[in-house]
Amino acid sequence: MKLFAIFGNPVSHSRSPLMHNCVFKNLNYKACYTRVHLIDGSKLKETFFSLGLSGANVTVPHKEEAFKACDEVRGFAKTVGVVNTLINEDGKLIGYNTDADGFMYAIEEFGDVKNILILGAGGTAKALASRFVQDDIKVTVLNRSASRLEYFKNVVSRCHTWDDFEVQKYDLVVNTTSAGLKDEELPAPKEIVQKVLDNSSFVADAIYGKMTPFLKLAKEKNITFKDGADMLLGQGVLANELFVNQELKLDDIKINMQKSFEL
Ligand code: NDP
Repeated sequence: MKLFAIFGNPVSHSRSPLMHNCVFKNLNYKACYTRVHLIDGSKLKETFFSLGLSGANVTVPHKEEAFKACDEVRGFAKTVGVVNTLINEDGKLIGYNTDADGFMYAIEEFGDVKNILILGAGGTAKALASRFVQDDIKVTVLNRSASRLEYFKNVVSRCHTWDDFEVQKYDLVVNTTSAGLKDEELPAPKEIVQKVLDNSSFVADAIYGKMTPFLKLAKEKNITFKDGADMLLGQGVLANELFVNQELKLDDIKINMQKSFEL
């Protein structure tokens, strides 16, 4: 029996155990997926191996720490320095990022998006910004503090803190901050968020399973919005494919993981 887990702080809200266990159970794959509440991100690697894990996902706030902990990082995670999926490959910790492709899947229904505002500058924002740029999408990043913007200066068209931000027109605005996850905060001061929403065609939040204050405001303004559930599904399907090392078919993983959202 293989054991998988999600590391995070907080982690009790995570739907990942339900999603992955639904796939394992329905497809008779001998594995189990649990949660690990990890406070100190520097303990990620030793905790992973002491639990005898075959693989794991990493969520807030440890994705950048996860990148540093890896013996080897593959694919898109190398570009962004952010890891959300870990694999135990013969005692070595291998890191991947499935968040960005998961998000591309989630926004397919918004059609041809050319101009995106990202709220936040953490691990998720990095992954999404770099992935959008690959598709020639014009990206602006808006964050509370300046220090995290450094990474974006050579990656996106514009990056701002709340103090020097001037709103433009956007096809899509994405909240990647954790504002609204455990609290009732907006991702930026209300007057900025109002202006942004008044100039945006679609809205997405990376947070799932709750109407954040940001999504509530979008709803009030009759803007088409979605929470992070489809992103979660997309990244989960791709992570599961890595966990089972292609022993299961991608379509079967997708169908069975989708079922966990209906429970
Ligand atoms: P990080 O901890 O790496 O980054 C958090 C970001 O949020 C920082 O830019 C930080 O700004 C900002 N922030 C935090 N609190 C506030 C606040 N009160 N007001 C404004 N800005 C704030 O987090 P991640 O990128 O890993 O995750 C971000 C969110 O995305 C989480 O809510 C997570 O649950 C969600 N997520 C969902 C996924 C899904 O599948 N649906 C996948 C991945 C993430 P500062 O630099 O100023 O501190």
